[in-house]
Amino acid sequence: MARLMSGVRTTGQLHFGNYFGAIKTWVELQNQYECFFGAMDWHGMTSNYKNSSEVMPWNRDIIAELLAWGIDPEKNVLFIQSFVPEHLELFLIFANLTPMGWLERVPTWKDAEEENKANDTHNLGRFAYPVLQAADIAIYQAQKVPVGQDQVAHLELSREIIRRFNHLYKAQLPEPQPVLTKMPVVTGLDGRKMSKSYGNTLLMTEDEKSLLKKVRAMPTDPQRVRREDPGDPDQCNVYTFHKLFSTEKDLEWVNVGCRSAGIGCGDCKGRLAENINSLCAEPREKKKQLLNQPERLDSIIRDGCERARKEAQLTLRMVKERMKL
Ligand code: SF4
Repeated sequence: MARLMSGVRTTGQLHFGNYFGAIKTWVELQNQYECFFGAMDWHGMTSNYKNSSEVMPWNRDIIAELLAWGIDPEKNVLFIQSFVPEHLELFLIFANLTPMGWLERVPTWKDAEEENKANDTHNLGRFAYPVLQAADIAIYQAQKVPVGQDQVAHLELSREIIRRFNHLYKAQLPEPQPVLTKMPVVTGLDGRKMSKSYGNTLLMTEDEKSLLKKVRAMPTDPQRVRREDPGDPDQCNVYTFHKLFSTEKDLEWVNVGCRSAGIGCGDCKGRLAENINSLCAEPREKKKQLLNQPERLDSIIRDGCERARKEAQLTLRMVKERMKL
């Protein structure tokens, strides 16, 4: 089985943007690859360094979430990035051999430059983020990384860094190949990209009451002012959500009902909330149980981090031998 590595930034509770962007795919990939899945708290720290004490507790929450949604801790290695210090050592080795120009060209750095300055995250840690990503992959000698089409360029930078290392030190770290996955752009409750920083998220284990409240508050087609006005689902973010969570039959019900004013927005939102709830009710319960059993959860985390660390130490030893350190 080829080895695959992926991670999720530790910035808070996981939301449905994380689910459709990563976790849903991980659940499928765990049967095809030897997987290393991480809660990446050093990455979370690049934007959250001022609230560093908040980052650690989210690690446990994320691991509990992954387990609750079906990631098998026996089959996969589930780890917390900062518990495997070898990530940082390899990062520093890679940082020395990565030309500044490669990082200056990264579109997410250039595009978010003004935003970073405003948020006080225009920092070296943020700038060097792709180098840490390359180290995250290489430390486990992963051959595969799941990415959406728009992230292939990011992975290419990791490949370039690893290639340069291999060239300089006559080593053979695998250059990771993309596993292309369908990652729909998940809009937030207000129609912008779903993101914690916009405050428009729907959590993967949102409790039923708050789920209904959030869905009820979503804006609808602005042309549909009164109940008897026909609407256009294609102009409505509620319908965008239906496409993610509802069956074909429900989509048809919304399409016909909205355009003919046969259904009201309250009915439409009620059905959406039901469908989301039926997806997350079971994981929500499982996660609650896990968080109520701290010893069991801690033992799973400890075991995963030990297994990750063992592999990371092997890689780092080989890296240092090659570099004659
Ligand atoms: S019926 Fe549904 S899709 Fe149509 S405008 Fe209302 S909330 Fe949006």
